[in-house]
Amino acid sequence: MEDINRLCILIVFLIVGCAEQSPEDIAQRSLIVDSHIDTPYRIKAQLDSTGTYEDIASSTSYDFDYLRALSGGLNVPFFSIYLPAYSEDNGTSFELANELIDLMNSIIDANPDKFFLVDTSTYLGNLPGQNLVGIAYGMENGAALEGELDNVKYFYKRGIRYITLTHAKTNHISDSSYDLNKQWGGLSDFGKKLIPEMNKVGVIVDISHVSDAAFFQAVNISKTPVIASHSSLRHFTPNWERNVSDSMVKALAEKGGILQINFGTNFLTNVNDKSKAYDPSTYIHADITDVVDHIDRVVELVGIDYVGIGSDYDGVGDTLPNGLKDVASYPNLIAEMQKRGYSTNDIQKILGGNFVRVWREVEEYARNN
Ligand SMILES: [Zn+2]
Repeated sequence: MEDINRLCILIVFLIVGCAEQSPEDIAQRSLIVDSHIDTPYRIKAQLDSTGTYEDIASSTSYDFDYLRALSGGLNVPFFSIYLPAYSEDNGTSFELANELIDLMNSIIDANPDKFFLVDTSTYLGNLPGQNLVGIAYGMENGAALEGELDNVKYFYKRGIRYITLTHAKTNHISDSSYDLNKQWGGLSDFGKKLIPEMNKVGVIVDISHVSDAAFFQAVNISKTPVIASHSSLRHFTPNWERNVSDSMVKALAEKGGILQINFGTNFLTNVNDKSKAYDPSTYIHADITDVVDHIDRVVELVGIDYVGIGSDYDGVGDTLPNGLKDVASYPNLIAEMQKRGYSTNDIQKILGGNFVRVWREVEEYARNN
């Protein structure tokens, strides 16, 4: 009888134990930080063309909305305050950054039971299970700084917690990976002064989009870990400078920084010709396994502590991998990592733990300097 009791207890224990390991359950119990989601610009584009936009507090046709964020377990999306390269040329980037922040603030303010603005890494671990999505801001393209170091503090006060130094074109801060014009040979003089100022204020330096020379200069100058908010590995996309090389991953990790894997098919594989315009009739999509191949390789190169996710949802159109089409999809990614033997603890580092560790180090430095 006692043996049967023991057996029953063991079986119950096993069932509970197994149930706790389901991908959905891990997604709900763990802090998920996705460091690059482009919904604000999508909202603005729709607003500009139709006079209205879809309600991200319920459900939308975008890659992000509140209901799918909850079902996917997403706690902290970093919304991109994206400034197209032309906005530096025509002098509208400062104004555009403020417009996008105002727009997102108004949506957050109108939905206090669903959204709130995240401006610190503190307490993020309490978010899972609360039915609240904490929205953080990252500025994609430092164009809006307009050559003024004081604007780092200004945008910090407006909620910006990382700045991607440049975007598709070389700007007044840095050369761009996409731009053949490498006029600064890396960072401009202003760019070299900007990095210590970002360190002092507590804004994370994001090297996605910059040229290789600018990357190494930024990593060397920064006193705090540096991130790639939405880049993948060049190993899988040879010669494509927008992704990072193995030696760059090592330099990033040596400084305590992280590579946040971009889910766009072009970032994951070479199956499509990147020099050609997107053509849905010939376009081949990557798979979840490709995303985890990138994660595996970062882990092989530098270990589990230097990789995370920066999906680029709402920023890469219809090029997302099969099975990872929107913010409800994180459990699918977790399932693939489990299949490859990642422990729950490792998966939690990738989902958000690593990003929060970097953010804390950046905050800590700013407090002391
Ligand atoms: Zn981008």
